[in-house]
Amino acid sequence: MTVVAPDRGGNPMTRAAYRFIPHSIRHQPMGGVIYDLACMACPETSGPQVDQDTAQLWALRHTGRHPEHNLYRRTITDIAQVTREG
Ligand SMILES: [Zn+2]
Repeated sequence: MTVVAPDRGGNPMTRAAYRFIPHSIRHQPMGGVIYDLACMACPETSGPQVDQDTAQLWALRHTGRHPEHNLYRRTITDIAQVTREG
């Protein structure tokens, strides 16, 4: 993904001028990915897991024990790095 961010320049006494410098944002693999599922019916969570299957297996087992607990908030966290392209 590439976007442009304003960079102030020009003469500050009379006017502000902006030029646009492209930046990109990408997943930074060194931080890995963290998966965390939270039951919407009670306070229980999978806790942060580096393995997606571990987090999802927790949810399947939780619903197995509590059939009415079948909605989960999934939080997937990673590290992103913004790089100036210009
Ligand atoms: Zn629950």
